[in-house]
Amino acid sequence: MSATPQTQQDLDRIAGLSYLNPAAPEPWASFVEQIERVRPYLGSLERWIETLKHPKRTLIVDVPIERDDGTVAHYEGYRVQHNLSRGPGKGGVRFHPDVTLNEVMALAGWMTIKNAAVGLPFGGAKGGIRVDPSSVSKGELQRITRRYTSEIGIIIGPDKDIPAPDVGTNAMTMAVMMDTFSMNRGGTATGVVTGKPIALGGSLGRQEATGRGVFITAREAGRQMGVPIEGARVVVQGFGNVGGIGARLFHAAGARVIAVADHTATLVNEAGIDIPAAMAHAAENGGLKGFAGASPIDIEDFWRLECEFLVPAALEGQLTVERAAGVRARIVVEGANGPTTPAADDVLRERDTLVVPDVLANAGGVTVSYFEWVQDFSSFFWTEDEINERLERIMVGAFSAIWKLAQEKHVSLRTAAFIIACQRVLEARAERGLYP
Ligand code: NAD
Repeated sequence: MSATPQTQQDLDRIAGLSYLNPAAPEPWASFVEQIERVRPYLGSLERWIETLKHPKRTLIVDVPIERDDGTVAHYEGYRVQHNLSRGPGKGGVRFHPDVTLNEVMALAGWMTIKNAAVGLPFGGAKGGIRVDPSSVSKGELQRITRRYTSEIGIIIGPDKDIPAPDVGTNAMTMAVMMDTFSMNRGGTATGVVTGKPIALGGSLGRQEATGRGVFITAREAGRQMGVPIEGARVVVQGFGNVGGIGARLFHAAGARVIAVADHTATLVNEAGIDIPAAMAHAAENGGLKGFAGASPIDIEDFWRLECEFLVPAALEGQLTVERAAGVRARIVVEGANGPTTPAADDVLRERDTLVVPDVLANAGGVTVSYFEWVQDFSSFFWTEDEINERLERIMVGAFSAIWKLAQEKHVSLRTAAFIIACQRVLEARAERGLYP
């Protein structure tokens, strides 16, 4: 994730934070750069902008466990609460061997923006542990999760900070976190995490929500650009929770998904891929490799395919400047977090390719997480239709406000989303005032 600093400016960006390594400023420096781009639009709220460059609370924890062979292993864990001005923290927990404090800080910052851009009453937070979940046994992973939850238990809670799944974690991780927090508290607290199994207070529609939000925002962008979904050619990178479900919804709405990629294969079929069949193949074989309904294509050619919608829904940093220069899509819809580098973003804008930014396009997941939290508070659960209707309303409303501002200010949808979000956060900050 780290890069060497490009300029003195890179160093200056993190200069105020002694605990970051100035030689590896990314991705926190990217986040700070995105905040700086909003400065001219803040009016009197500019006075408060430094708030967004200083995470409110940064906790580093040691996670020791006894391994199955009797040795003791230590893992480094984090929970960062970037900003809590608008409500309790909200954001996922990532289990990955390369996760760093710098990365968790940036991800927490993006959660502040995402929650505010969509209008959810949360601040931004994120957590992580430096562990490869596939390198430890099931029992070891559970001990890591329990000890981590206990360690960060001093700052999380249903009204303080509510974790959720992210890369390397899932509904079962959330079940263990909920149980650990509840054991320590001496009472069941379903609302401490979201993305839980349904039997433990999870929400219907949560698993599909991010892919559904990607589809809704793509459809709205298409409407503005005169690009109907029906008959549109769609290219999707990532065939998991976000990309797979997004592809299925495009397919069901009459679009032609002409190319899909996952970590096992990159496939194309200009006539349109049978997405339910591809999903069944991927579920059975652990990936798309060997799917007979499409042909392999080089990954660099994949990015150059002519299409109406290009959906990067796998990893960060996929759309580089080089790849962006070859993109022949009308609209890029960012299903993944941070799939487009800031320089590539500029290239796409010069080429008149509309980018629906991650903080809007993939906000469907946290929106239904919000519904889950609300349902847990009242212990009253909604139907899937009610959830999907409310998700639709929130996503369409957020898209429309961001679109309108982008037109008024002649800025990208990303900058417009950041302007709306920063104004909401800093207005809350200003109205609350500084303590003491
Ligand atoms: P996932 O693990 O379900 O799926 C990831 C997919 O990416 C898999 O199909 C995998 O094979 C593919 N992939 C991995 N490496 C690849 C590579 N090198 N080339 C091509 N494909 C590759 O994960 P997900 O939940 O779908 O998350 C995908 C992205 O969306 C991440 O950036 C995540 O942070 C973001 N996101 C997810 C949610 C959510 O609710 N799941 C919400 C917001 C953002």
